[in-house]
Amino acid sequence: MSIMFAEKTMPQIKQAIEEEAILLLPLGQTEQHGPHLQVGCDSIIAERVAEAVAVKMNPEIPVLVLPTIAYGYVPRSVQNWAGVFRIRWEVMVGYIADVCVSAAEMGFKKIIIISTHGPHGDVARLAARDVFDRTGIGIVVSIPHVLCAKPFAKIRKSKLGGTSHACEYETSLLMHFGYPVDLTGLDDRDAVKVCNEWVAGDMLGGSGKASWSTWALQISETGVYGDASCSSAETGRATFEAILDEYGRLLRFVREQKMPAQTFPRYPRNW
Ligand SMILES: [Zn+2]
Repeated sequence: MSIMFAEKTMPQIKQAIEEEAILLLPLGQTEQHGPHLQVGCDSIIAERVAEAVAVKMNPEIPVLVLPTIAYGYVPRSVQNWAGVFRIRWEVMVGYIADVCVSAAEMGFKKIIIISTHGPHGDVARLAARDVFDRTGIGIVVSIPHVLCAKPFAKIRKSKLGGTSHACEYETSLLMHFGYPVDLTGLDDRDAVKVCNEWVAGDMLGGSGKASWSTWALQISETGVYGDASCSSAETGRATFEAILDEYGRLLRFVREQKMPAQTFPRYPRNW
């Protein structure tokens, strides 16, 4: 049985609503990922994670994968390289929110965004706020590399600063998926230099007390931020497994959570 929303018929969608299926929304991007990675990297990771999670959890938990959002917001500086689409952030907030509001109005109550592209974390959280205000349905925003940060710290080969964009994490995952990736000529010249108590810098390591875009702090020579030279399919395999384990736990939590019915504004008022 397909786990893809787009491959369902209308009566099958109705059935999924009745079963209170969880919807997974892969949120990726199409943009340069250095000289060695496919420009669809973020969308590929979001999609692969969503599909594998749905296969793993069905039938214990009914799950459907929505069509991927594969264009998005990115800082203008990324357009210094070929292959970049850039959608205004306010358009993205509205677009993501409208997709989720449509699903909520159909009757779906639980939606998890799987966001793999850095700047979309903020965008997706704003969209989730909007969906809640419009429907009373709370959307879960999840980020695979946040989920697997701890296990990845044990298997990574790069030093702190080695993961941010087209880095060891993303490259290893695409190698695990079987994409042709040539590591020739890659090194750590574009490793993230500012990783301290203020700015985490490294995507999967450290915890900065403040937020400051790597793209504003450092200019990349190759389009990479981090170090992809030490990537391997084996690191990708272990990372992917860790991501799936974490999503298994997240989906069970989401499934069990009972959400109160919301009415806006509430009468009688609280005051
Ligand atoms: Zn990426």
